[in-house]
Amino acid sequence: MIRTNRYPDGKSYAVTMSYDDGLLADRKLIEIFNTYGIKGTFHLISGRIGKNPAYITWDELPTLYAGHEVACHSVEHPHLEQMPANAQYEQLIEDRKALEAATGKLVRGFSFPFGTWSAATLDAMKTAGLEYGRTTNNTNNFLFPENFLLWHPTCHHKDCERHVDQMIYNIEKAPWRAGGMLYVWGHSYEFNNDNNWDLIERVCGKLANYKDSIWFATNVEIMDYKKAVEQLKVSADGKKLYNPTATDIWVDVDDAPVKVPAGETVVLA
Ligand SMILES: [Zn+2]
Repeated sequence: MIRTNRYPDGKSYAVTMSYDDGLLADRKLIEIFNTYGIKGTFHLISGRIGKNPAYITWDELPTLYAGHEVACHSVEHPHLEQMPANAQYEQLIEDRKALEAATGKLVRGFSFPFGTWSAATLDAMKTAGLEYGRTTNNTNNFLFPENFLLWHPTCHHKDCERHVDQMIYNIEKAPWRAGGMLYVWGHSYEFNNDNNWDLIERVCGKLANYKDSIWFATNVEIMDYKKAVEQLKVSADGKKLYNPTATDIWVDVDDAPVKVPAGETVVLA
């Protein structure tokens, strides 16, 4: 049986972190992520950087977030759904331009300020070239979104340890559940407010112990991989797998990982 439940290097699970607002506590959080090899996406408010000393600075931005993903969170963190469509678009495109200028990279992701949106927000995202939008609606499951424009996370970090433990249980005891993705969101300053940095340290340590089974990736890396997998072509007899994308894909064939390299056809025995 062919199943599309594998990640790069044949790994069976994916974990991604998503942190909003870009306050100074991001520095400590990234130190922890880097120690354990965890990857995060950081959604920044460009209009506050360089103006409000509670936020990270333009100077440190490219090096602080190196190895992670920088994504949009709007210029001024308004309730977008209360704004006219053109003003919503300005909040997104100007944020994207500023963050792309600062990083020198493409910025393609977004999270909704206050976790709210209107239909016009989704249109503005598409026009501004933002391909996913993270909500604050927790699914408490390991499934992918039906629509990346409304990407509902698994859980907030304060509730993440039970999900991490569940994923580790699945890896060890329930291999038929392979393929899940754990998506954790939050704000780094909450660890200061709640005095619980030990939570994220402990959870990252637990996850790192399973790095042979878990793919640690940014939000956009997971979206790109999933969209590539969706383009895999399988012959009617299930023996030929063609990968028309520029991304190497791994699938599960009779409980073993098989790599289908970018642009190639793999013929199964
Ligand atoms: Zn926010």
